[in-house]
Amino acid sequence: MLIRQVRPLDAATGRAPRRPVDLRSRDGVLVEVAPDLEPVGGESVLEGGGALAIPGLWDQHIHSGQLAQAHSRLDTSGAGSVGVILELVRAELASRRERRIGDQALIGFGHRLVDFAIRPTVPALDEATGTVPTVLIGGDAHHAWMNSAALTALGLPARDGIVAEDEWFVLAPRLPELPGVADALATGAAMLQRQALQRGVVGVTDMEWGRPWESWPHRSPRLRIRTAAYPEELAAVPGPTGTVLDARGLVTMGPLKVIVDGALGSHSAYTREAYTDGHGYAGRGVLSVGPEALREALAQAKALGLTAAVHAIGDAAAQVALGAIRAVGLPARIEHAQMLTDEDIAAMAALGVVASVQPAHLLDDRDATEAVWPGHGARAFRLRDLREQGVQLALGSDAPVAPLDPWLAMAAAVHRSADDRPAWHPSQQLQPCEALAASTDGITALQVGGPADVVLLEHADALFADVPSGADGLMVESAAREAAEQLRATDPLATVVAGRLESQR
Ligand SMILES: [Zn+2]
Repeated sequence: MLIRQVRPLDAATGRAPRRPVDLRSRDGVLVEVAPDLEPVGGESVLEGGGALAIPGLWDQHIHSGQLAQAHSRLDTSGAGSVGVILELVRAELASRRERRIGDQALIGFGHRLVDFAIRPTVPALDEATGTVPTVLIGGDAHHAWMNSAALTALGLPARDGIVAEDEWFVLAPRLPELPGVADALATGAAMLQRQALQRGVVGVTDMEWGRPWESWPHRSPRLRIRTAAYPEELAAVPGPTGTVLDARGLVTMGPLKVIVDGALGSHSAYTREAYTDGHGYAGRGVLSVGPEALREALAQAKALGLTAAVHAIGDAAAQVALGAIRAVGLPARIEHAQMLTDEDIAAMAALGVVASVQPAHLLDDRDATEAVWPGHGARAFRLRDLREQGVQLALGSDAPVAPLDPWLAMAAAVHRSADDRPAWHPSQQLQPCEALAASTDGITALQVGGPADVVLLEHADALFADVPSGADGLMVESAAREAAEQLRATDPLATVVAGRLESQR
């Protein structure tokens, strides 16, 4: 493929040449970067018209199965109480009966336990749903509120409350056993790829439960997919990290993923200090995998040639994760890494541990963090400190927890505010080109020998310019807000994956 007349941006410097060049790729790799290349026989040509060319974007943390289901799910994210959710469920079931699909399982997604004044119970849900299997997944993806019909259909013991953490993680990939869910999933997988490509995404790390390495090669992949494995599936893993799993080389084996704590919204992130929020929750959250079990899991990963991705949201969980990574000694990332002390950051830098952070979470977690850990907000989303201490950043979304949209992630990293308030801890803001460099899987420039993963942007000359600082050394608030708005509004012209045009506006 020949991409003509583009100006490749160097994400390390934020600069692009004024004079356009052409990019030639062969077998998915860039083989020539020079002005005025002539097309050779049979070569497909993409005219860039002077557009800015950036390295393809990555979302380093998604859950493909849940995302694929998202379009057929009942959105419960705005429901602030158990009563409102039950009303939504009743209305949805009534509408489905009218459309004669009343017997299909109802999957909901998005509620936050932290919003509820009373605990959700199985009998309350049974009363609203009758015998239609119903699973309401929390917005943090760490628990589900299920009715008796769904519990029975999936062979779970009866109970009064929710299904959470490890019990839920094992159950989540089995939802397609419920009526109607598998069909919705196939449509959703195609849709999620199309939407990602439209936003300039050329690759994702898929943290889906189950065996995504078995399903992806059969889904006509159009972007790069690294599939993670959880400890309970280690015996089925096809090979070490990097093993190619499809004919085009787009699907590869990713890391072992281990979840050692919960999430902020469920009060289960494992923290150094106790929660204080007045809802009757106390304690320091949940450490679901202790230091010894984690060391064992990582040692197994190392023996299989897998890298590790350790989910740690609370600062105490990060400490446990780093201890095990140090003891075992393997290439590793911390997923979320959204509460860190100085000591944790220094350890990450010393061990070469990558910070896989989802900046859009800071928009949602801002108020919750300040409410449950008053005074410790300075430990949250320390993107600038991580970068300056030499820790490699790998941004993502945790979709469907946040939208699979790297532009939203970059905007959140730059401005750190979702509303009219000024930035939350502005000393941690990233410059736009720093946010870009954290979103391209470590590739800062389009160079010969690199992957032919290219995104074209028009009218984008100011997009990655540095935001000016004021006398206090911090970004000028209005300028950071403006830069974030521009990033959020970016709509790529074209996305090329492995030398193939996969999306064009
Ligand atoms: Zn996740």
